[in-house]
Amino acid sequence: MKLLEGKNALITGASKGIGKGIAQEMARHGANIAFTYRSSAESAQALESELQTLGVKAQGYQSDAADFEAAQELVGAVLKEFGNIDVLVNNAGITKDNLLMRMSEADFEQVLDVNLKSIFNLTKAIQRSMLKARKGSIINISSVVGIKGNPGQANYAASKAGIIGFSKSVALELGSRNIRCNVVAPGFIETEMTEKLDEKTVQSWRDAIPLKRGGTPEDVAQACLFLGSDLSAYITGQVLQVDGGMLT
Ligand code: NAP
Repeated sequence: MKLLEGKNALITGASKGIGKGIAQEMARHGANIAFTYRSSAESAQALESELQTLGVKAQGYQSDAADFEAAQELVGAVLKEFGNIDVLVNNAGITKDNLLMRMSEADFEQVLDVNLKSIFNLTKAIQRSMLKARKGSIINISSVVGIKGNPGQANYAASKAGIIGFSKSVALELGSRNIRCNVVAPGFIETEMTEKLDEKTVQSWRDAIPLKRGGTPEDVAQACLFLGSDLSAYITGQVLQVDGGMLT
């Protein structure tokens, strides 16, 4: 059964990693996909073509999620092209890790802008059209680090914790209009990025997870598929951890 047949999804930061996995999974379930990237134009083009072979409409947009005006323009362009946006996945995110002692103001601000302010930007931009349609599912990608904290990631943890408070507030504000807002909090997800890490260190992380493996982009994508589809029609304001039991 295709869970998103005929629906339109906008996913930020889908040129690689988890965002790409979400785009692929939602497209497999019949959704037309608009997605953004910051600089990876070639990967974005390749994803566009790959998704189109699944028989859905797919278009990549270069757009900085941290830029308020750019988010307004993006949503305007997507609405013009796709007509409506049923599902918004705020996935774009970065890290600039350092101990607080060495963390610069710029590194704090940049992480907050890309990870948290971006969600304000996109949600503000999309709100009017979802209110008009009287439906919508907004999925914000946080992290277990936003729940638990992590040394060397005060900026990242603050941004990811902020996402949870923001999302719960949006769920309360927009619930009466049938607009849902939920959070997915991944644990350790193995992507191209983690392939570059020392195998011994990565194995020790896997060993510490109750399910004894790192997660995959597909694991996160399937949680997003559920939250984007009508299977979760009565679920809003929740944080779904996709972490193999890491934070239990
Ligand atoms: P990734 O592989 O580094 O991919 C990040 C994506 O976001 C890329 O498509 C990138 O585009 C895009 N992006 C970055 N800055 C952007 C901006 N300002 N505007 C628009 N797009 C931007 O990261 P990932 O590991 O898949 O992580 C995706 C999300 O999951 C992030 O929010 C991250 O915090 C969260 N998360 C990841 C893990 C994990 O273990 N991987 C765990 C918990 C949570 P370009 O390629 O063009 O730069």
